[in-house]
Amino acid sequence: MKKIIISIALCLSSVIYSNDENLFTDPLISSQPEIIKSILESEKTSQDFNDLLSLINETDEIYGSLSERLNNGGKIVIFFDPAHGKLPGGKWQGETTFRMSSAGLPEEIYSILLSRKLYNLLKKNKYIEVKTTDDFMEVLENRSETYKNITFTQTMKLAKESKAFMVIASHLNNVGMLSKAEGLANIRGIHLVYSESGRAYLSHITNVQSGFLTLYNRYDPTGFTGMIANYFKKEMLSYGYKFNNWKQGAVADDRFLYFANFPLSLMFESGFISNPIEEEFLRNEKNQDEIALSQYNAIINAIDEKFGVDLTENSISKSKTQFDILTLIKLSKMVNYYTSKTDLVKAANICTLMDKNFKSSRFETSTEPYREIKNRILSANYHMNTASANASKKRYSAARYSLQKAFNSLGKNPYYYPVRAEIAARYKALTGRNIRRSMHYGDAANVDNYYETEFPYLGCQRENHSPTSPFILIVRSNQTLEEAVNLSIAPNDKYCSKILDSLRKARATGYTTQKRYLAKKKRYINVRIKRSYPVRFTEGIYIVQFNSNMSVRRAEKVKIVPFDPKRFQNQEYFKNSSLAVKEKDKSL
Ligand SMILES: [Zn+2]
Repeated sequence: MKKIIISIALCLSSVIYSNDENLFTDPLISSQPEIIKSILESEKTSQDFNDLLSLINETDEIYGSLSERLNNGGKIVIFFDPAHGKLPGGKWQGETTFRMSSAGLPEEIYSILLSRKLYNLLKKNKYIEVKTTDDFMEVLENRSETYKNITFTQTMKLAKESKAFMVIASHLNNVGMLSKAEGLANIRGIHLVYSESGRAYLSHITNVQSGFLTLYNRYDPTGFTGMIANYFKKEMLSYGYKFNNWKQGAVADDRFLYFANFPLSLMFESGFISNPIEEEFLRNEKNQDEIALSQYNAIINAIDEKFGVDLTENSISKSKTQFDILTLIKLSKMVNYYTSKTDLVKAANICTLMDKNFKSSRFETSTEPYREIKNRILSANYHMNTASANASKKRYSAARYSLQKAFNSLGKNPYYYPVRAEIAARYKALTGRNIRRSMHYGDAANVDNYYETEFPYLGCQRENHSPTSPFILIVRSNQTLEEAVNLSIAPNDKYCSKILDSLRKARATGYTTQKRYLAKKKRYINVRIKRSYPVRFTEGIYIVQFNSNMSVRRAEKVKIVPFDPKRFQNQEYFKNSSLAVKEKDKSL
């Protein structure tokens, strides 16, 4: 550590006092590959020079000369990021964010079990040191059952301070509340579900999720974390476990700040605790052991493959220096450094260098996201420059428009947070107003809004239903239409056969698009065509409305419907069918 401080101090003084020739004879710099030297060369008079140099030194210190360092008692530090944790109020984050198991346990309970298993394997390896927060370490050491939640920003800070080689986390997966029967179990069929705000719905759950998956860092240019995901998958398959459908269990992820700022990072998602069968499976200690062992082996094998050190050996044989890997880590840190400072042309130039040197190499796929980063930041940069030019000519509305374009061109990805913050600040300075942010996924998924637009006629509220107000008709698997009608509508004898007859003739309207040739314009256009088709009452939820003569006015299949007796009639759930035989209450 001291040595690095001295060398940085030396370099600083070189910038100030000596000529450039001397600077590049510094062994720390002269030993760097050409591509890195060329970047330093172009920055030698800038303040950025020292920051870049410390990024380079930090990378060499953590990832360089591994075999020598490990044989001399050095360790590879793995930072274990706690999965969620207790919130200031004392509840597990799993409870407050609907990450509960089908048996009602928060995600953290299972994460603790699996994290301890993996920790015990890592701890036994003399070349590895696990670091984490103090309270999570107590949990890993089996001395405590509780730990605090920390933000991804804190995780990154702690990982950097502990000079971590990589960051891992052991999570369990879950599904949205509208896919969980009675608020807990993700099982097939028609069930009562609750939204996150506590509203009840009847939902036809067809999407049942299961299987493990690994979220690895999409911005890892070395392919190391993707390799861990794939090795893990291979081991798990050899035990007979199944991967989740999403990218076949190995997902290149960029949704977390975590991934934007720490090149070698990943999250294991070892199964769906929302699935009762999988939860039962995860409770089994033998299965937990096999999962943790697969994770451990995957990490060890990928370190061997990518960094050339076999951590299962008693003494590490000398590996070839992995220049390519080190260079890629340095380059990715530099792109991130300049992007964070909104120095976008410099960031793009480094992407170009990465592309030139690695596009036709074994790193072609893992460096692919940097081509996307380059395009996005150059586009944002172009619009920002246009905005500045317009503003200086007092064309304020054009400037505002360009800033909004720059902002939108970066999407919602956390990688560009600092750039978006800079654009938003400029927008505010120019207009005095906040920039318009694009809609979040969460907004689009607002079921209440969705129903308002999809079924405007459901807005009517009725205390007393008449035969013409809408019914919820539920058809379960292996149920005839007659059985379904008897349960949901329970019509009296007078209407029974008429209703069945009407439903069998029911038709719904839908739209299809067709290509049509326009002779005048000499081209094809898409035309929307209204079609009427017979409704087949297969398994599902239907909103049915009759005319006063009991013919079907509307019969529509829906995935989900508000559980609301004021809006709907349904004998099974609400006991409010206006067509049902009114039985005298015989109970005492
Ligand atoms: Zn989680």
